[in-house]
Amino acid sequence: MIVNNVNLEVVSGSASQFPDTNLLEIAFAGKSNVGKSSLINALINRKSYARTSSQPGKTQTINFYNVEDKLYFVDLPGYGYAKVSKQERERWGKFIESYLYERQQLKQILLLVDIRHEPNNNDKMLYDWIVYNGFAPIVIATKLDKLKRSQVDKHVSVIKKAFNIKDRNRIVPFSATTKQGKDELWEMLDSIIDS
Ligand code: GDP
Repeated sequence: MIVNNVNLEVVSGSASQFPDTNLLEIAFAGKSNVGKSSLINALINRKSYARTSSQPGKTQTINFYNVEDKLYFVDLPGYGYAKVSKQERERWGKFIESYLYERQQLKQILLLVDIRHEPNNNDKMLYDWIVYNGFAPIVIATKLDKLKRSQVDKHVSVIKKAFNIKDRNRIVPFSATTKQGKDELWEMLDSIIDS
């Protein structure tokens, strides 16, 4: 899709504030600092429309970006920030679940992990939970530009193994710096939008 018009339409702090429309939704999940805002900005051709996190984990809202009146990009709050209390983490978990569990118009979940690191327990739990609920997540391996080209295959294998992914096509290495992976990802999203 060629994106010209994007509007941050809803910033929700509770499920009652989710938009009441039939637009399909594509959700972005991942731990704080993984590059979620940078990915969204790259996909919508903006430099800094989606917030970039100066205070990782502090913003506990689910943000709905209306893209060309065709769909919403749904930005889920980043998880795994060490300084957040246990209570706050539980609240976060419930809030995200309330979105992921009930949303009929949710068509695809993108789970972001840093390509340099093996996914941690939070990543794996979320991945398994997504699969358990009937979705086939696409894993976005971010910050691709931080690796030498010769290291990429090895790191992709580590991520595949951690999530027990069989299909190489379910992982898209991506760089917000070079925009590598952007066209491939848009092709995947377009086919979901058109289906
Ligand atoms: P968020 O917390 O998941 O929304 O992460 P951000 O998009 O705010 O990114 C966190 C930090 O990683 C920022 O300093 C970004 O500039 C940096 N970053 C994000 N994506 C990339 C990337 O593809 N390559 C590089 N080198 N840095 C990135």
